[in-house]
Amino acid sequence: MENNEQKKVVLSLIQPTGTPTLGNYLGAFKNWKSMAQEYDCLFGAADLHSITVRTAPADLRKRTIDLFAILLAMGLDPEKNIIFCQSHVSAHAQLGWILDCYTQFGEASRMTQFKDKSAKHADNVNLGLFTYPTLMAADILLYNADYVPIGADQKQHLELTRDIANRFNGLYGDFFKVPEPFIGKAGARVMSLQEPEKKMSKSDTNQKSFILVTEDPNVIVKKIKSAVTDSEAAVYYSENKPGVSNLMDIYSACTGKSYEAITDEFAGKGYGDFKAAVAEAVVEELRPLQEEYHRLVKDKAYLEECAKLGAEKASRIADRTVRKCMKKVGFWQY
Ligand code: ATP
Ligand code: MG
Repeated sequence: MENNEQKKVVLSLIQPTGTPTLGNYLGAFKNWKSMAQEYDCLFGAADLHSITVRTAPADLRKRTIDLFAILLAMGLDPEKNIIFCQSHVSAHAQLGWILDCYTQFGEASRMTQFKDKSAKHADNVNLGLFTYPTLMAADILLYNADYVPIGADQKQHLELTRDIANRFNGLYGDFFKVPEPFIGKAGARVMSLQEPEKKMSKSDTNQKSFILVTEDPNVIVKKIKSAVTDSEAAVYYSENKPGVSNLMDIYSACTGKSYEAITDEFAGKGYGDFKAAVAEAVVEELRPLQEEYHRLVKDKAYLEECAKLGAEKASRIADRTVRKCMKKVGFWQY
């Protein structure tokens, strides 16, 4: 018998800044799917976060709906878990503001994502980009999440969330659950296919740097074929071979094969054979998701119904947390 009260809570969101990539899939989605069996899970589209980068309104809307369809296409169950859209739950912005006031300027300044993204979008270094981690802390703390499955790139933000929660608890007595990161082994950090020293990002302007989870199989094959490697033509894992090592990570995450097994498999063969095998493994890995996505994305009424259900379930928990938090801080309540 399942005992719901004993189940740990898991939360993870993804920004609709573009179609999710293979990095998001291997670094986040694959963990979400296995965790959904075991825990009380909340997964969703972090659309409030995504306006830190300028987006046309129609694109934002389309990307959010697409992302929602992808989450359902992965097999996440909207009845069993909470699948929702961040902007549908007003408590995120409310708690985000409160946590801004419990976070130091110096702490936020140390976040590498802020440094990276402000360099990348030098014409729009807005305050939202800077306070991104406090909104992320609110996302997590609203639901008393025990575990947050993230890629290695979000580790620093989760550390900050823990610091903010501990600080608040220190001031007002134990209130927030201090969350633990959950970083899967395989595919924790998928790198760009063109600049393998940088992580693969869906907001990258170079289309050849990433593989989208909904990408046409022919395009996947082409992009992997043109992935940057090196001139040695030997498949083994090494810091000095970031391109090949990245492809090995991807291949390993899709097939479960170890680095040694992969090196043996391609001994005496060139990168052509290796890349073809990686591409085939990726296409096969994504096939079920793609089929279901194409079916679901046409059913707007069903997607809206699921979004409404998710928002109601999430708001019930989040509104309560905000109300209790505001009482702790000393806001007048009637
Ligand atoms: P953006 O470029 O807009 O920041 P992103 O690809 O980094 O997009 P996010 O929405 O920021 O995606 O992150 C969603 C989840 O995917 C997070 O848990 C993050 O850690 C994970 N993730 C993102 N990129 C990678 C990657 N290259 N490898 C593994 N996990 C990743
Ligand atoms: Mg990111």
